[in-house]
Amino acid sequence: MDEFELIQRYFVWPEATANPAVVLSVGDDAALLSLPAGEQLVVSSDTLVSGRHFFADADAFDIGHKALAVNLSDLAAMAAKPVAFTLSLTLPAFDADWLTGFAEGMRSLAQQHNIALVGGDTTRGPLAIGITVMGSVKSDRVLRRDRLQVGDVLVVSGQVGDGGFGLAVANQHPLALTLSDDQQQAVLMRLHRPQPRVALGLALPAMANAGMDVSDGLLQDLQHMLKASGDLSAQLLLDQLPLSSAAQTLLNSDPRFVLEQALSAGDDYELLFAIPTSALPVLDQLSQQLNLPLTVIGQVMQTTQQPTLDLIWQGKPWPYPLPLGYRHF
Ligand code: ADP
Ligand code: MG
Repeated sequence: MDEFELIQRYFVWPEATANPAVVLSVGDDAALLSLPAGEQLVVSSDTLVSGRHFFADADAFDIGHKALAVNLSDLAAMAAKPVAFTLSLTLPAFDADWLTGFAEGMRSLAQQHNIALVGGDTTRGPLAIGITVMGSVKSDRVLRRDRLQVGDVLVVSGQVGDGGFGLAVANQHPLALTLSDDQQQAVLMRLHRPQPRVALGLALPAMANAGMDVSDGLLQDLQHMLKASGDLSAQLLLDQLPLSSAAQTLLNSDPRFVLEQALSAGDDYELLFAIPTSALPVLDQLSQQLNLPLTVIGQVMQTTQQPTLDLIWQGKPWPYPLPLGYRHF
């Protein structure tokens, strides 16, 4: 099978041309897209490398899902509506079963979010998946990370730390193996099939001043927002962190391990955002409407001398030094 047959068989999806933004899809030298008047193009790329972002023997469906999910999460974090994406695929060999699973995982998530695969590149080499996503947003409805205001409350969606607990299960961490089978499955699902918070992102500009997605650890990502917003300070109340049932089980035996995962493990793909206190009643409504927990975990504060990020646990400062989050270099 040559490269052109491969693309035709696995990556030409008829639904791509049903998306009104897509004028021309896979097959020509480039795709043509058209956005409604008054909307801006939002672009982001993320690459997943075998052995670094997923285990080489991971399920192909999960890899396809996750590669697109992490990219959709960036669109959600900008409050953008998904439009189209390109796929740069580097494959060690032609493997029909693997490609079938991979394409299905990616395509089912793409259909859920009505995002069209409009092109890409296919090469041979060590397994790597590069995706560029494109979305659209009205210029006055963008969600940026550099717009935190003093007094804002910090809110996080879903539950934090499960990506880290999933990795701990996969790595046979002794504490993670004390979880029940169901709990282990649940956190592995969170690691392998993250759900990008696209609907939440689209609703946020009406109430939030700033926001981002949590991909490299809550603390590190929050620090980026504080710095970008003019070196502001913040306080986080660790007792409020929304934890899954698995995390709560582990909290009794090893609070330090649980809080470290919740604060600094990557791979949660929840949204972290800031709203003025006046928006708190609307937050509850939105949470019910989306059937997604939205939990207040802290507050943005004025910096007096140096920017600070205070962690409070059971009324006292949290004493442990933490690895801030995931860094490649
Ligand atoms: P060119 O040589 O002009 O760059 P290619 O041979 O790389 O074109 O690709 C042919 C067509 O297939 C292009 O429209 C390209 O966007 C598309 N394509 C290539 N690889 C993929 C892929 N993995 N997924 C989707 N479309 C792809
Ligand atoms: Mg090419």
